[in-house]
Amino acid sequence: MKVILQNLTKKFPNRNKRIREDVVAVNNFNLEIPDGKLIGLLGPSGCGKSTALNLLCGLVKPTEGKIFFDDDDVTNLPAENRGVGMVFQNYALYPHLTVKQNITFPLENLKGKEKLSKEQMQQKAYEVAKLVQIDELMERKPSELSGGQQQRVAIARALVKMPRILLMDEPLSNLDARLRLQTREEIRRIQKETGITTVFVTHDQEEAMSISDMIVVMKEGVIHQIGKPQEVYDNPINLFVAKFLGTPPINVFAGRVKEQRLYIGDEAILTVKDVPDQEVYVGIRPEGFLLKKDGPLSCALEEVEVMGRDITVVSTHNACHNEAHTIRSIISAENIKDISSATVQFAVKPGKIHIFNKETEERIYFTID
Ligand code: ADP
Ligand code: MG
Repeated sequence: MKVILQNLTKKFPNRNKRIREDVVAVNNFNLEIPDGKLIGLLGPSGCGKSTALNLLCGLVKPTEGKIFFDDDDVTNLPAENRGVGMVFQNYALYPHLTVKQNITFPLENLKGKEKLSKEQMQQKAYEVAKLVQIDELMERKPSELSGGQQQRVAIARALVKMPRILLMDEPLSNLDARLRLQTREEIRRIQKETGITTVFVTHDQEEAMSISDMIVVMKEGVIHQIGKPQEVYDNPINLFVAKFLGTPPINVFAGRVKEQRLYIGDEAILTVKDVPDQEVYVGIRPEGFLLKKDGPLSCALEEVEVMGRDITVVSTHNACHNEAHTIRSIISAENIKDISSATVQFAVKPGKIHIFNKETEERIYFTID
């Protein structure tokens, strides 16, 4: 099912009573979620992700705007009638019920012609339990399961009514690193097998990039960019998006454009056509550096981290604007022999450089020769 958010806004009275202005948790969202896809809703903590999800499922009423499921306007439809499955960070399982009872719970209260017999409920519970691979744990209590297994139970419970849309709010945040990886692959598999339109909320860019068909990057209630993960990574529309995606993060320098040349400090690192002279931020992805004896960018070498296939060169530069104050560049391990002095010389790959207006932080597009 396709989902459309139209001019959707949610304001809350500020929790800090001394501040009279409302908090705009979701600010004029316009978004079309294609049928059968997994969308990663991504942004820093407090940017309005959970509010957006709660608007979709009907737990929160919008201040303005509309929500459509296919052609149905569901803006005023109560949560229980929307056919939405929810999964939360903390699983929210009933501790005194078995796995099977937790999964059948949403089926117990169906009324009228939807009412199911005990056998039908069991049948459905086993089907979804099999799908999420917990069918051997049906008689256990949640306390007898690992975190990853508990989250699978929560997913099974969200799926048992065959929802029209599945919403997951930071579902992996309570799991340790290994389980997080494994469970995110599981979620991708389950989503593909069921074909249910899914919105997956996370503050972890790597998580969103790795499983989403499309990511929506937001900040302070506002959608900044929508697109396929790789497209957004390669073509960020502003400095915020460029910095938010990628590990290690993009390296940012203060720079300027003068007479069609891009400078960092006194060094012209690239010819950029069609850009008026101005102060800019220069973003260079870690994989955008090449070690080159007569390369135009000179940095002071701090250390070299060897990681097998690649090495990370950690260096500094006066114009560096990174939060960590050091520049991380990733170089193929074969080139390690080229590092021999206290200064490293880099050439840069034009496709891995983005420049941004110093005031607005919007991307400035340039052409190269
Ligand atoms: P996220 O899930 O991205 O961390 P939230 O959607 O939970 O962000 O919150 C977005 C903003 O709205 C935050 O500033 C938060 O404090 C505020 N907020 C969320 N829910 C309420 C509420 N019920 N009352 C007041 N403010 C709220
Ligand atoms: Mg949240």
